[in-house]
Amino acid sequence: MSLEGRKVTVLGARRSGRAAARLALKLGAEVVLTDRDPDAPLMGGVRNEMGGHREQDLVEVDLVIVSPGVPAAAPPVQQALAAGVEVVGELGFACGLIDSDVPVVGVTGTNGKSTVTHFTGQLIAGAGVRTFAGGNLGVPLSDACASNFEAVVVEVSSYQLELPGELEVDAAVVLNLTPDHLARHGSMEVYAATKCRLLERVRPGGLAALPPDDALLRRLAPERPEIRWLGELPGVVLDDHEAVLEDGRVDLSPLSAPGAINRWNAAVACLLAHGVGVPLDDLHPARLTALPHRMELIAEIDGVQWINDSKATNVDAAYAGLAGLERPAVVLLGGQGKAGADYGALAGCLGDARGLVCFGAAGPEIAATLGGEVVADLATAVERARKLGKRGDAVVLSPACASFDQFMDFEERGEVFRRLVLPEGSRVKVTG
Ligand code: ADP
Repeated sequence: MSLEGRKVTVLGARRSGRAAARLALKLGAEVVLTDRDPDAPLMGGVRNEMGGHREQDLVEVDLVIVSPGVPAAAPPVQQALAAGVEVVGELGFACGLIDSDVPVVGVTGTNGKSTVTHFTGQLIAGAGVRTFAGGNLGVPLSDACASNFEAVVVEVSSYQLELPGELEVDAAVVLNLTPDHLARHGSMEVYAATKCRLLERVRPGGLAALPPDDALLRRLAPERPEIRWLGELPGVVLDDHEAVLEDGRVDLSPLSAPGAINRWNAAVACLLAHGVGVPLDDLHPARLTALPHRMELIAEIDGVQWINDSKATNVDAAYAGLAGLERPAVVLLGGQGKAGADYGALAGCLGDARGLVCFGAAGPEIAATLGGEVVADLATAVERARKLGKRGDAVVLSPACASFDQFMDFEERGEVFRRLVLPEGSRVKVTG
C-alpha cells in the first residue's frame, strides 16, 4: 500500500502514535503529528503540532490515525468524522498493511492479555514460523507490520477497538471481563461491546473464543459458527495438566511458569496457535517463559518459591493468580487501592495461605477486611515473609492494588521486589 502524496494526521504523539507516524512516512504520506500536550516529544520528518490541534489538520486530510490514548469520543476525532474524513485507530491502520496470507491472532480481555499474547507468539514461533508478538504489549504493530513476519499475534486493548479500522484476524479471544476502564467506556455494557468487536473481526472459517459463563459477553458476542469456548468443547478445556482441544490433547506439565493460571493461559495459547494452523505435535509448552511481573518465578530459596505477580493490580487479577497456586503461600498485598475494590473477595483463594502481609497505602484497609499483618512498605513485607515462609511454601507478591503510592509503576514495584528477594551479588540459585 502506498500513501504517496496523501495527507495523514496522527492524533496522539506517544508510543503508538509515533509508530503510526513513522509507518505513514515510510509509505510516502505527508504527516502531521499532533497532541494536545504542549510538551509531547517532537518527531523528525513530520509537521509537529503540539499543544492542541488545528482544524485543517483534522478536516482537510485524507486519513486521521488515532492513538489508543485518544478516546473515539474526543472532539478532534468527532470533528474529523463529521467532516467525512477516514478515521482509524493505530492498530487498525497497521493491520490493513499485513499481507492477507499472514495469519493474525488478536487477544483481548480484562486480565491475562499480555501473558496469552506472549505464550501464543512463543508457541507459533516454536513451530518454526517467524512470528511477531506485540501490539498493546511491547512493540506497536505499526513498527512491525512492514517486516516479513509469517504470523502476527497482537494484544488488543479495549481502547484499540474503539476505531478498529481494517483490523481483521484469523483467531480472536476475549479472555474474561471484569469492571475496568469504565471512566472511558462509561458502562460495563459499552466496555463489553467494545471487547466483542474483536470477535466480529474474525475472518470466515477462523476462530472466535470467549468464556461460556459470562452472560454479558455471551449476549453481546456475535452469533457465528467460528465461536469456540474457553472451558468447554468446542474450544479448550484444562484437564489437570493437559489442554484438551477438539482434535487432541497437549501435555502442559513441562511448563516452567508456576501455577494453574499459567497452565490455563498456555492452554488458551494452544487453542489459538492451533487455530491458525500449528499442528498439535508442534506445540511445545516446555519452551514457554513467563513474562516479567506476571506470576513469574524469580527464585527458590531454601525450598520457598518467590513469585512476582506485581502486575496483579486489581482484585480479579490477584484472585486468578492466587487461586491457581499449588503451595501454601505467604501473600504480600497492598499499594494504592482502587475505588470500590472488594478485597473480601480474595478470602475465597486465601484458604491455604500461610500468612498475609499487607503493605502500603491500602495495607490497613486490606488487613481490616482479610486479617493479616500490616507493615509500612514492600521491604518490610519481604522481611516478614522471609520469617513466615516454610520449605514447600511460596511467597507471592500479589498486590491487588495499583503501585503508585510507593512506585512509578507495577514494573518498578516488581523490580524492587526482585532486588529485595535477590540482593545484587547474591549467590542464591535462581530456579525456573
Ligand atoms: P493484561 O495484559 O491483560 O493486564 P497480564 O498477562 O499482564 O494481563 O496479567 C495481568 C495479571 O492478571 C497477572 O498478574 C495475573 O495474575 C492475572 N492473570 C493472568 N492471566 C489471567 C487470566 N487468564 N485470567 C485472569 N487473570 C489473569
